[in-house]
Amino acid sequence: MFTKILIANRGEIACRVAATARRMGVKTVAVYSEADAGAKHVAVCDEAVLIGPAAAKDSYLRGDKIIEVAKSLGVQAIHPGYGFLSENAEFAEAVEAAGMVFIGPPGSSMRAMGSKSAAKQLMEQANVPLVPGYHGDDQDPELLQSEANRIGYPVLLKASAGGGGKGMRVVERSEDFQAALASCKREAISSFGDDKVLAEKYLTRPRHIEIQVFADKHGNCVYLHERDCSVQRRHQKVLEEAPAPGMTIERRAAMGEAAVAAARAVGYVGAGTVEFIANQDGSFYFMEMNTRLQVEHPVTEMITGTDLVEWQLRVAAGQPLPKQQHELGINGHAIEARVYAENPEKGFLPSIGTLRFMDVPSHVSFELGGSAGQPAGVRVDSGVREGDAISPFYDPMIAKLIVWGADRNQALSRMAQALSEFHIVGLATNIAFLKRLVEGQAFSSADLDTGLIERNNASLFPAAGPAPKGALALAAVALLDAEQALSVSANPADPWTSTHGWRMNGTYRRQLSFGDEYSATLDTRTYDLKLAYHPHGWVLELDGAAHPLALVGKQGGEYAIRLDGAALYGTVRRDGELLHVFTGGQHYTLHYNDPMAHAGEIEAAGGRLTAPMPGKVVAVIAKDGQSVKKGEPLVIMEAMKMEHTIAAPSDGLVEEILYQVGDQVADGAPLLAFKAAA
Ligand code: ADP
Repeated sequence: MFTKILIANRGEIACRVAATARRMGVKTVAVYSEADAGAKHVAVCDEAVLIGPAAAKDSYLRGDKIIEVAKSLGVQAIHPGYGFLSENAEFAEAVEAAGMVFIGPPGSSMRAMGSKSAAKQLMEQANVPLVPGYHGDDQDPELLQSEANRIGYPVLLKASAGGGGKGMRVVERSEDFQAALASCKREAISSFGDDKVLAEKYLTRPRHIEIQVFADKHGNCVYLHERDCSVQRRHQKVLEEAPAPGMTIERRAAMGEAAVAAARAVGYVGAGTVEFIANQDGSFYFMEMNTRLQVEHPVTEMITGTDLVEWQLRVAAGQPLPKQQHELGINGHAIEARVYAENPEKGFLPSIGTLRFMDVPSHVSFELGGSAGQPAGVRVDSGVREGDAISPFYDPMIAKLIVWGADRNQALSRMAQALSEFHIVGLATNIAFLKRLVEGQAFSSADLDTGLIERNNASLFPAAGPAPKGALALAAVALLDAEQALSVSANPADPWTSTHGWRMNGTYRRQLSFGDEYSATLDTRTYDLKLAYHPHGWVLELDGAAHPLALVGKQGGEYAIRLDGAALYGTVRRDGELLHVFTGGQHYTLHYNDPMAHAGEIEAAGGRLTAPMPGKVVAVIAKDGQSVKKGEPLVIMEAMKMEHTIAAPSDGLVEEILYQVGDQVADGAPLLAFKAAA
């Protein structure tokens, strides 16, 4: 076995590989870009080397530099993870030429599978079933059109060099063919530098089912069963599970054998995935082979009780496969959800910013976990920690949440539970969307096909109702509790600094105002609460009704309260003026309309004035080089439809304004450089 490997990747997969290497006693070298100096993958490896600026082309895609670093540190093998250089045949060959082992298939296998058309030709010869279509070299538009007419509409055009769901066009009618062809070729040339296309029968309501294969250098090749990755948005996977619901033993064996035949046809070594598209009746066709470890590999690990990264290291080191086909059974059911920094309500737009809070589900295991023979019930693979940022440079994935259950129903309820315990504050995420998806009728009843999300749009994107009184009560209790803690810590015995509201006679009343957004057009709603203080709690007045309220217990941001005599639990996280309330599996974001918040605003930290929340710059009042007086407004930001004035913290000099009107700013980002007067 190797004693030291380099991980040519970042984020969750780099951490994942490092976890297995550590368990096997193999030392790891991380490489990182300037944007990742403080990243988790750098922290979890034994050594780390800076390779270049943030942009991937200057860092994680610099194969030459990575090989140089590996050689100088005496590394024996390089793990490419997925993405970046993982399917780059030249890189794989350069690693081997430099006297190290590439932990993946030979360059020749990648080349053979790199072109969808060439791969289909090869698979035809290996008797692997193909979607009816045309994948020839002749690209004459008239010929392509007559092939499409022969196949029958709808037809799917695909860029032969395509990937990641790009360069695909569905053509419904013969009349539309030429226009679609031209647009497909344009996208293919700009995205992949190659305008070759293929045409296939477009299956309606298909499922995406893929087979994990593994081959060693001794001629052994096995399949580790299937994963169903039908739940997709824009041809990108959102939920993956294993085994595939409804799969029969016969069909599993047929697909597994077809996948092994595909791998053998290209002289495959290591972990690979053969993707099939399947009709509802179960008939299946080869789509493509991914010559690397997949994002969704954990669901296979859970049901087969394997560590696929360990297998990769063993195979790369020349060892035979740890198990033979007949030793590979299926235990239970696993589901993975990809937690992304994105906004499903706004067309899944990626969001960037700092993970101010990240509460992971209870009883969680990180990167593999579980004990001998028993998979972890809930596993989180993540490349970020609380306090880290999701930057615009790389994939906005925050974590993979993977659950295992004795059967699909148990896995489903564990997933729903885990999603409601996964709390992220600081940027938009798809967690609530995932929860609706997992709990929805279509997914829970395994009515799967690649159109599931679009078909269920109405139920997956319900109009946001008003925050319930329980969420408002939790927010109010958390606010009052924080105020009280402040006053108590300042001087526990001093009645004059106390804010608990006790009065010698009469009842103290307090008003609180919250706001929230309830539509994609950012309409806001206001909640006015009145709280009357009583010796054992409060009475909450809301919309003219009175509700007895008391704090029962708390731990960190978790609160137990009693409202109208009933117990209620929730977590409240404060991020600037936003209160994030997690209760009953829901996440409510409330803006605290604090009357004191903007009085004499002081926001300076180390000479930099930072954005209090992600938002947009709506006015720049100060100029570079301008002397200003304390309290003078410098920049105005807008977030959640509210304006925030960033004012001079003291008399001083505005050295440089870093943004212009209209710029989007991540929270915590320095807005300007400021020098206080001596
Ligand atoms: P990429 O390499 O870009 O991921 P794939 O060939 O793997 O492209 O296809 C991606 C997705 O597109 C599949 O998971 C499936 O949802 C859809 N798809 C591909 N081929 C077909 C087809 N012939 N009919 C219907 N949907 C298809």
